Amino acid sequence: MRLPKFEYLEPKTLKEAAKALASDTKESVLLAGGTDLLVNMKHKVIQPKQVINLKTIPKLAYISNGKDGLRIGALTTLHDIASSQAIQEEVPILSQAAGEVGAYAHQVMGTLGGNLCQGNRCRFYNQSAFWRGVKSPCYKVGGKICHVVPARAGGGRKPKECHSTYCGDMAPVLIALDTQVRVVGPNGERVFPLSKLYTQEGKKPLSLRKGEILKEILFPPPSGKALYLKWRRRESIEFPIVSLAFHIEKDGNERIQKARIIFSGVGSGPVEALEAEKMLKNASLDDWMIEKVSNQAIKEISPMRTSIHSPAYKRKMAGILLKQALEKISS
Ligand SMILES: Cc1cc2nc3c(=O)[nH]c(=O)nc-3n(C[C@H](O)[C@H](O)[C@H](O)COP(=O)(O)OP(=O)(O)OC[C@H]3O[C@@H](n4cnc5c(N)ncnc54)[C@H](O)[C@@H]3O)c2cc1C
Repeated sequence: MRLPKFEYLEPKTLKEAAKALASDTKESVLLAGGTDLLVNMKHKVIQPKQVINLKTIPKLAYISNGKDGLRIGALTTLHDIASSQAIQEEVPILSQAAGEVGAYAHQVMGTLGGNLCQGNRCRFYNQSAFWRGVKSPCYKVGGKICHVVPARAGGGRKPKECHSTYCGDMAPVLIALDTQVRVVGPNGERVFPLSKLYTQEGKKPLSLRKGEILKEILFPPPSGKALYLKWRRRESIEFPIVSLAFHIEKDGNERIQKARIIFSGVGSGPVEALEAEKMLKNASLDDWMIEKVSNQAIKEISPMRTSIHSPAYKRKMAGILLKQALEKISS
């Protein structure tokens, strides 16, 4: 499979890259490790006029743990995160999750920024142009239908909704850890919680403004315990069918003060079980409570119908993952 033709830019600064990305005359995309982008370009689901290579910009790949806390540059590879001693000691859940992305080759090439900004997935969309040619174009590629939930069969959760799924491994973990992102655009930079990067809309899953580029991830001081559980078909190489990042903070009397429960694979962005989190405050984790919290979580996240697995199956697996996490934390 060949790449379509495109112009290629090697910027030397983020400002130059942001300006080029914002240009109205070219439809441009950013290239980091290319493990997501180049597959999509070969399948012609994305046909940009210009590709802007971020790897030619110096000093975007770093793990820094100085007086302003832990920071990871967007171009840092997943392999470097998985194998970093500092990360293994400070935030072991992060090195674990990075080591579970795809296969080794994806971790060596793939970057943290690319992982957080990867496209949503759908069996009707992540296919070659030839394969897609027999069906009419879907919402995701500018068409008038969702093949997962066609309107004639009763409609989607919202009319005209694209049911492509967010399947990233790193975002749920970093949201559970309360990280922030720094993005740089043509008019300066801004910092905001990572959770706000995701719109929950399949057609445009990221809230980045025109020309904005993810520069780095900022961590609060480490606290509490965290777990990442990933349910997938093959251990060796696979996106999550459902995954769960769970973070909990207790006070000096071992009472739960704060909990974060974030799922991947169940919606068009990472999905948080806010009510289940509230139930955990000051709760003692006996079997009854574990069952109650997990039932609440699956009720409120209400997994979306996706192109491969049914909502019922995802609900069941999400509940099992949360029960496992709560049992591990309480033992
Ligand atoms: C077979 C296979 C299995 C995979 N398995 C998994 C998996 O298990 N879990 C998982 O999470 N992912 C998986 N992936 C997806 C992908 O490999 C990873 O998400 C990877 O981390 C993407 O990073 P990258 O640097 O290669 O991104 P790229 O492909 O370079 O970019 C991905 C997207 O992000 C944008 N982008 C990149 N960097 C930035 C930035 N700094 N600011 C703004 N936008 C940016 C690009 O424009 C592009 O749209 C898999 C992919 C394949 C092909």
